[in-house]
Amino acid sequence: MPPARSAPAPGPLVYRVAMPNPASHEYEVEMLVPALPGREEATIAFPAWAPGSYMVRDFVRHLTGLKVSDAAGRALPPARVVRLDKQRWRIASGGRPFRVRYRIFAFEATVRTSFLDESHAYWNGTSLFFFVEGELGRPCQVTVALPDPRWRVATALPPVSRQRHTFAATDFDELCDAPFEIGTHALHAFNVGRTRFELALYGRTNADPARLLDILRRVVTATGKIFGGFPFRRYLFIVHALPVGSGGLEHRASVTMDVAGLSFEDETGYIRFADLAAHEFFHAWNVKRIHDAALGTSRRGDPEKVPAPSPDGLRSAKPSSVHGLDYTQENYTRLLWLFEGCTDYLAHVIILRAGVTCERQFYKMIAEDWPRYATRPGRNETSLEELSFEAWVKQYKPSENFTNRAVSYYEKGLWTAMALDLELRLATDGTRGLPEMFRWLWNEFGRAGRPIADADVRAAAAAIAGRSLGRFFDRYVRGTSELPLPALLGRAGLDLQARADWDESVRPPAERDPVKSGRARAWSGLTLQAERTIVRNVVPRSPAWRAGLTFNDEIVAVEDARVTAATFAKRIADHRPGARVRVAYFRRDELREARLTLAESPERRLTVAVDPHAGARAKAVRAGWLGVRG
Ligand SMILES: [Zn+2]
Repeated sequence: MPPARSAPAPGPLVYRVAMPNPASHEYEVEMLVPALPGREEATIAFPAWAPGSYMVRDFVRHLTGLKVSDAAGRALPPARVVRLDKQRWRIASGGRPFRVRYRIFAFEATVRTSFLDESHAYWNGTSLFFFVEGELGRPCQVTVALPDPRWRVATALPPVSRQRHTFAATDFDELCDAPFEIGTHALHAFNVGRTRFELALYGRTNADPARLLDILRRVVTATGKIFGGFPFRRYLFIVHALPVGSGGLEHRASVTMDVAGLSFEDETGYIRFADLAAHEFFHAWNVKRIHDAALGTSRRGDPEKVPAPSPDGLRSAKPSSVHGLDYTQENYTRLLWLFEGCTDYLAHVIILRAGVTCERQFYKMIAEDWPRYATRPGRNETSLEELSFEAWVKQYKPSENFTNRAVSYYEKGLWTAMALDLELRLATDGTRGLPEMFRWLWNEFGRAGRPIADADVRAAAAAIAGRSLGRFFDRYVRGTSELPLPALLGRAGLDLQARADWDESVRPPAERDPVKSGRARAWSGLTLQAERTIVRNVVPRSPAWRAGLTFNDEIVAVEDARVTAATFAKRIADHRPGARVRVAYFRRDELREARLTLAESPERRLTVAVDPHAGARAKAVRAGWLGVRG
């Protein structure tokens, strides 16, 4: 159907962001709402959460000085501006244009919030912008008033021609899905095919920018190969080099990554950067385009196929029922294990395939991280689907016993993803695996903007394996069975050896130390805080649990010897498993004593090596899985 070009496009929501005094950490924001014919009243609402970070944050708590006026600037009488709840106001505008002005205090330096000081300005849209209920599909425009002529703007939004520092978004989703970095950041760029990649780098870092660019180029190339190209013409990496790294937040055509700026003194810093970049970039497909209806819109994923104007001229017209995402409250999905766990796992595969890491480093990751997961008391208490669903109240608001009754869907999702990859490879003689499953999901759903449901993931796995993997999903995604990862790795030609710290048989005689190994045996089941002797966790049914110790107890002595956070484990190690040990502690300022019967430590070290006796099938699985030979 040919578009009706004569119909007028709806007027955009026009935002203006000023920061006249960056040292105050306050943005001055204005939203001009155009005429809404036929709507006597309009409700403006402030987002409560940031897509990609599943926790209600109530960004409205940073808002002050709200003023509503007509288009000419005359304040509306109080009776026409009624606050409905913590984040919504009803404006009796009579359908005429109106102006909303407010300040946002921005002093939280994370990827999902906003920050402003003399060195730079950063915002993630949901912490800065009101929307108008029922008008989420309306185009938006934002103009930035710079406080300093030397500052510049980096964002994935396209600039509006002939309007200074002005950018356009097709709708509110896109406005919020394009963070802004403003200041004197360094700007780098490179091309892969016809797609332009930019890096806006803020902050103090000892990283070599050329090395960062090389890593980004490798990561995007390897990821593009999985999907057969890029679903955008331009992609922006915003990287904040800060004292402490805190992760990234994915967007459709950009990302913000907060990294530890001075952590590039050895290879580890670069590998961590590559891993984070690969994770976030994979999200450009997985969750931003391959999405659950509850977490996205129905916009198409392909740049060649942007929605044609509908007959009434609305460029991004979509029925409100299709608009799955609600900015004011929790949005539930059972697929976060897929969106985050598979992404975490495939980031390791991508940086290996990209040549940033090598095969041995991949095995080292398994050797170091799997035993940590495999001894988490809560790993089989809650299913991955349930962990995903209750992320809003558990993962981001963990209670003291989270570790004992639950586990992160990132961590469990990563190992389940590896197991699924291996199951797929075993079914296909190594030729197809999890990357191919995501390409299938992209081709069947993401590319067309169709949301996925749980059953579609099962269908994708079946399409790749050539048979149903329903049992796998029932046991490890919907159920809580122990993941058989060591056995699967064995079938992929890897030899896994778990060893206790006191087992000296594998050490050459010259490196043996019977005193040291003897002290590695005793175990209390207590975890203390890093700095103080406050109990952070007690493993269920461990010696400390049986002795009645619990969260927040303050340990002061073991067998009458004073302990610190650094010496507690040493004083426990003075004893053998089976010994009864007196532990003095304060509970709510009252001095008490517990008697622990120490157990043998369940902790093991794992080594992962290529099995020289592996058969041809195992070799094929490993070759297809990691792209390695031999
Ligand atoms: Zn993620």
